[in-house]
Amino acid sequence: KRQVLGLNALFTAGFGALSHLFTRVEIVRLRRKSELELEARKEKVRDDTRLFRLVAPSSGGGRDEERLYQTSVQEVRQALYHALQLLHRTLDLHTCVLLMPKTDAEQLRIVEMVSRSDDLADGPFSLGAGAVGAAVRRQLTTNLQEIRPGYTGICYYRGPASVRSFIAVPVLERGQLRAVLCADRVEDRPFSPEEEELLRDSTSHVLRAFENERVFMQLERSKLEQEILYRVSQDLSTARTQDGVMEVGLKAAKDIVPYDFAAITEYQPEGRKHSVRRAAGERALDFQGLRFRDNTSLTAMVVKNRHYLPYRGDFESKQQVLFTKKAKLKGMESLLVLPLVVREEPIGTLIVAAKTPEAFPSEVRATLQALSNHLAVAMANARLVRQLEELATTDGLTGCLNKRAFLDQMEQKIMAAQRFGRKLSVIVTDLDHFKSVNDTYGHAAGDRVLQELGQVLKRVKRETDLVARFGGEEFCVLCEETDSRGAELLAERVREELENTELQTELGPLRVTASLGVATFPDHATTAPDLFVQGDKALYEAKNRGRNQVCTV
Ligand code: GH3
Ligand code: MG
Ligand code: MG
Repeated sequence: KRQVLGLNALFTAGFGALSHLFTRVEIVRLRRKSELELEARKEKVRDDTRLFRLVAPSSGGGRDEERLYQTSVQEVRQALYHALQLLHRTLDLHTCVLLMPKTDAEQLRIVEMVSRSDDLADGPFSLGAGAVGAAVRRQLTTNLQEIRPGYTGICYYRGPASVRSFIAVPVLERGQLRAVLCADRVEDRPFSPEEEELLRDSTSHVLRAFENERVFMQLERSKLEQEILYRVSQDLSTARTQDGVMEVGLKAAKDIVPYDFAAITEYQPEGRKHSVRRAAGERALDFQGLRFRDNTSLTAMVVKNRHYLPYRGDFESKQQVLFTKKAKLKGMESLLVLPLVVREEPIGTLIVAAKTPEAFPSEVRATLQALSNHLAVAMANARLVRQLEELATTDGLTGCLNKRAFLDQMEQKIMAAQRFGRKLSVIVTDLDHFKSVNDTYGHAAGDRVLQELGQVLKRVKRETDLVARFGGEEFCVLCEETDSRGAELLAERVREELENTELQTELGPLRVTASLGVATFPDHATTAPDLFVQGDKALYEAKNRGRNQVCTV
């Protein structure tokens, strides 16, 4: 009995697992199916928007935009269906059908139809064939009566038509064939001139449905754009750094048009140089940081002329150079380089590129240009903030940190050193007999000596070390993870380099020397001000011992 029970349990568990597995497989299958259906539906909407010539969705657009196209297509379809139904009822038709030419194909396809027949063909149909073709070719109404049984010239019937009268009215818009409206009847009652007129009138209704949708689309589109731009201007105003601004800018551009590559370049008028400040998308890192002189590239031209390029949006990478001949942007069919201008001054460009042709139609370009204007102002502001920050933390003559910025950082570095049990040293530097340098060679020469010492310090120090000018002719170096011995070696190299540097002045060559003092955390002091006092003490010792030397506390 126990065995039977055990077997039973085994089977139950087995079947449970199996059914679970089947359910999983079924779910996956269903999900896949609905994905495919969704994709097909989307493709249909894309197709229809092109057909109705609503502003063509270049390669999908954002989600909002897709929804917009979808509702628009539905609107057009509904309007068409109602028009056909009305005609069908009032004219007592067998079939009433609207055919439209397929873009870049010599074919007609059924867009909307109301019919009593069950022998209808799906299409597409050859553009010039049969009775419909006659209307297309001549661009005139074709009105047939007393059609003999067995007639096969009506393309939308699969077999021979059972109808006796037929009419095809071409729908023209500014001389261009947009559609053909066809109607037929089973009774041998020819379409009268009044009925013909009614049909022709209703074609203008069809055209109006298209036109309305196009206007609606444009309105909705500009509403969407304004929303995007409003969001962008808010995001831009909260971005503090240039990097932050550029990130917001490239993301916003993506909301406007799905690009495959985008970049922001900056122009420096002083050195007449361009640089790719930030890039996004395909092979972005190949271009980010690229610098080039003013040349005949599209980027340089756009800055020069403050006008977008290329004029028609097509990109021929073989002939057109985006940045330099060497740094090639490959595989792109569409390109747009827009100027970033602030108060008439070009400061750089916004670039978008796509693999699909005609990705940037004029309405997209207009929105991107609006974005560029916001972006340019935000970039210039961020640049100003950076310059102000630099001014506030650095010394104008030498470009070294100023005393306040240095002490700020020193506090933090000492806290970090304490936390991790590491050493840290300062080197305090003072030029020897500098008063007499000024007196003999003049203040300007003295300034150049100070600049030179700043250069020597920056050259000799390691990446992580900080150099500050403490005012006058005193400098200070902060060396992380460095004991007294290491700092002495560094100080000695500074002393030597300065001693061996010769400056040319109006009064002949000039050499100067410096005295340096070293103090180390936590050996000589445990706070920033104390450490500095100790370094100064060591410096005083070096001066006392005859100058041009290094001393430690
Ligand atoms: P010591 O070897 O004892 O340091 O002699 P010293 O002449 O260098 O004496 P001290 O360090 O007291 O001299 C500071 C001098 O540095 C005073 C001033 O003439 C000069 N000095 C301070 N700031 C500047 C500056 O910005 N530019 C120039 N050219 N000279 C400066
Ligand atoms: Mg001094
Ligand atoms: Mg001095």
